[in-house]
Order: sequence, then structure tokens, then C-alpha cells
Amino acid sequence: MISYQSAKEEIKQAADIVSVVGQFVQLKKAGENFVGLCPFHGEKAPSFTVSQDKQMFHCFGCKQGGDVFAFWMAYHSLSFPEALKDLAERYNVQLPEKHFTAEEKKKADYRETLYNVNELATLYFEKELTHPVRGKPGRDYFKRRSISHSIIEEFHLGYAPKGWDGLKQFLLSRKVSLETALTAGVLKRSDKGHYYDLFRERVMFPIMDLTQKKRVIGFGGRVLDDTLPKYVNTPETPLFHKGTCLYGFDASRKAIRETGRAIVVEGYMDCLALRKHGLKEVVATLGTALSETPVRKLKGIGKEAVVVFDADEAGKSAALRTLPIFLNERLSAKAVVLPNGHDPDSFINSSGRDAFSKLLNAAPSLFDFYVDQKLGSRTQDIDQKVSILEEILPILAKVRNETQRSLYIKRLSEKSEVAESVVLSALGGIKQSSGKGRFKNDIKQQFTSVNTNRPIGEIQLLNLVLHYPETVADLRGHHCRLLISDPMIRRIVDVVFDRQSRSEAVTVETIQERLDRNEDRIWLREFAFRPAFCSDREVKQAVRDFIGKVQKKKIAEAFKKAIGDPRAINEILKKKIAAGRPFGN
Ligand SMILES: [Zn+2]
Repeated sequence: MISYQSAKEEIKQAADIVSVVGQFVQLKKAGENFVGLCPFHGEKAPSFTVSQDKQMFHCFGCKQGGDVFAFWMAYHSLSFPEALKDLAERYNVQLPEKHFTAEEKKKADYRETLYNVNELATLYFEKELTHPVRGKPGRDYFKRRSISHSIIEEFHLGYAPKGWDGLKQFLLSRKVSLETALTAGVLKRSDKGHYYDLFRERVMFPIMDLTQKKRVIGFGGRVLDDTLPKYVNTPETPLFHKGTCLYGFDASRKAIRETGRAIVVEGYMDCLALRKHGLKEVVATLGTALSETPVRKLKGIGKEAVVVFDADEAGKSAALRTLPIFLNERLSAKAVVLPNGHDPDSFINSSGRDAFSKLLNAAPSLFDFYVDQKLGSRTQDIDQKVSILEEILPILAKVRNETQRSLYIKRLSEKSEVAESVVLSALGGIKQSSGKGRFKNDIKQQFTSVNTNRPIGEIQLLNLVLHYPETVADLRGHHCRLLISDPMIRRIVDVVFDRQSRSEAVTVETIQERLDRNEDRIWLREFAFRPAFCSDREVKQAVRDFIGKVQKKKIAEAFKKAIGDPRAINEILKKKIAAGRPFGN
């Protein structure tokens, strides 16, 4: 029978953190580590750092960090047991049965029941779609929109029929409590306390997560005609956070990575229509405006996004709203505006893939599109120009990459016919007034920013044991703990020594597991990214130096106690001489 710990270790052996994280974040080698743009907070210069050597990650910006499990949990919003299960499955590691604390288990079980409700609801909607009578409107709809049977199967599309309690009755028959179904977001409760189906007379699109199992976290339901609201989504639940999701992302990740581009459309049907025509690198926002988190996820695997908008005013203004997000997240973006009266679905179905690809390939940058839209036909109006500059410059001021920024400024100057020098000086004014001007804050600075307001000798001792765990036995045996006065370093070293005394591995990640305070864990992770202060050849001498210091300290303390006792002092002196050179003078 394998133990929980050994299963965890086995996963870690198989799931190299650089390759796991690398599936979601573009990583670049930087010295001994890998760096990339953090998927957990918005940033333009990479401070998200992964160490292959230590098998951990840490973001110097938002302080999120830990091992491969910590990454998996944070990225996919999973509990620890879920992350463990998911990774075990992905890397073919067998898990033993009971191994979680009661609290972990309770939380995981609760989420499991919510997944279960979603899976049952998916099944229900799929079944209803095939019902000879009740499913006909849904089938007709998909037929009309040329959605093939294989797409219906692949994406588990379904239909929520007319009526208020079809799903409710189905869930009751499967022993699901109404309260749970409410939390999962598939039922609603009236003021009078009656439960009823949230989705009615809608074609249903289950939304999957990005984990191994592709589990259903929520639903999008679309009306069959043009009545409003066009889309109803699962409300916020413990599993579903609308702002962070993209529809079809689970299926398109591979294609986005291969083509380097992500086509972003607004609706579920648009997404499926493009796929059907062979454009597999497509994702859809959930009928809502694009927000930062999905853009961060996209930039982790693709090089550019092509955002497709409807020709109507709402479509255009949605395009304009997304520009700051792309600029801030530094994902290059293009804008495709479809001919009047079309959405991606209708356009590709009527004009074909080649015509659509042409539009994609000829797409202007989102920035050009933005400026053109804003300047419009009133280019001659000076007040208009000024107000547009005022609108765009603060966005440009945030672009960290100087080459990129100067290119944008050049374009802006050309298009607005305002001299580049004027644009530049206006930009300068904005940057200054925005205060910080921390444009040169690069990764090196972040490394050195680790708080070392602590005694240098103690810092070096900790640095030594982290980089050369083989020294721990010697240092512990010679009571080097006595050298430490800093409470935080002491808490960390205590764990190190304790683990060594039990012959347990001393790694950053096993140490931090044992630290109670979050600030200790964060500090330790950042500290661990600093290089060793001595080379391999100098290690032995370093250990001797520390042991020497302990001896000195012990003797000094003994002297203090022995004051007024000549015999004791004599004894100490003898010991001191016997100790000889290795322990210093
Ligand atoms: Zn971060």
C-alpha cells in the first residue's frame, strides 16, 4: 500500500514544475530560474519566478507561491485534495485512500457535490435535447445554425425545455437536495421559498474548467430567438466565477499554443461555428465584456489575440473597452470588425472559412482600430483631437515596453496629425503626475529587495543550509542555533534542524509546510531564490567558520558566568587551547 506522502512525492517527480506551469504561462530562462508574467496579478514585467532546482514558484509582485500543488490549486481554483487527485490522474500516480484532514475532506466533498449537480444537469440537458417532443426546438435551433452532431456531442450541448421544474424534478429523483442545487446555481428560489429551474427554453452550453477531467463548472444558456436576455449564465458559485472563464478554452488550448494566436469571439455559437470550419484556436467570452483574468490566461499560451466584434455600436464600444486590458497585460491584439449585420457565426457560415481567414489576417492592431474609431471623420476638429489624446495617453503611459510605447506614440501622432514631440511631452506630463515612475523596476531589483534587514551572519547561515542541506547535520551537531537571534530566522532554522534530526529531507517546500505564519513562508520563498553566498569549494570552510563562531560564543558566555571563580576560568582557558585553530582564537 503506497502512502500519501510517497504518492505526493511521486507526482512531484513526474510533474516537473517548469513543464506544468509552462503549459499555462510562457516561461523564459533567466539565470538559474524561469520567469514569466504572473497569472495571478496584472503585471508588465515578469516577476513570476519558477525554480526547477527547488521545484517551486514565487511571484515577487503578489507574493503567491509554493510547489506544483500550490500552483495547480491557485490557477484552477481547486482545493488541495482536488489538485492532488487531478495531478495524480494526469501523471498516472495511484493515490492511497484516506489521507486528508477532516476539514480538507469536508471542503472537497462539498465542492464534489456541486460538480456532481453540474454533471447531472449536463446529462439532463443532453437528454432533453434528444427528447422527441420537448427537445425539438433545441434540435431545430442547432440545425438552423448548422451545428453538427459531433460538435453537439463533443461540447455536451443540451436543451433546457419549457417549464419551471423539469431539472428540479430530475435532480430530486437523483437525491440531490434543492439547497445544493441552488448553491450550484442551476435552480433559483423565489421570495416565497419555491425552487425553480434557472434555465428555461434555452440551448445549453456547459462550461468546462481547464483541469485534466474537464469538469463542468457552470452553464451558459442562449435563447432561441432574439428575446432578451440573450444569455443567462450560472451565477457566481464556489465553482464558477464568470469573469475568469472563457468558453471553449479547454478545447482550444492546444490549437492556441500551436498557432500562437487566440481568436476571441463573444458568443457560444460563434465559438462553435468557427471550430466547425476548422478554426480551433477560438474562445468565447461568456456573452460579457472581456476582463483581465482571461487575458492573462491567454497570454500564458498564445502570442496574440484577434478579437472579433460585431459591426454594431455595442460591438465597437466593446472593442474599445478591451484595449486598455490588452495594453496593460501586454498581449498584442488585433481587431476584426465584421461587415454590417453579421456576427462571426453568420459570416463564416455564409462566406466560408477563407473569407473569414482573410479578415483575420488583414486585421489592424487593436490600437490602430481604437484610434481610428475615436478620431473618426472629425479629424479636423482640434478639441476632439485633444480630448482623444487625453483619453489615450494615460493608457499609453502604462505601456512598460519602451519600443512598443514609442511605436504607439508614432502611430498616434500620424493619425491625429499632432507632432510626435507634442505627444511625447504630453505623455511625459502624465507619467510624472502619475507619480511613481517606476519604469525601471526590473527583476534584479526585485531579487535584491528581499528584506535582509537581518543580521548578515544569520542570513548566511540560512542561505548555507538551504543551498547545501548536507551541512545541516554538522551545524546542528555543533549547536549553531545559538548564533541566531532573529526570531523569524530562528523559526525557520528550528524547522530545518528538526527535520534533519528525523532524517527528513530539507527542502524549501517541506520547510514552508511546517511554518505557521504566512509571512514566514513568503519571506522564505523569496529568500530561497537568492544564489548561494559561497561556492561548492567554500562550503566546508563556511561550516568551520560557523562552528568556530559557536565555540567562541560558548566560551564568552562561560567566561561571563565564571567571573570571580579563577578555577573555572582556568578550565575554560584549557578547553579553549585544546580546541585550537579550527575554532578560531
Ligand atoms: Zn503575481
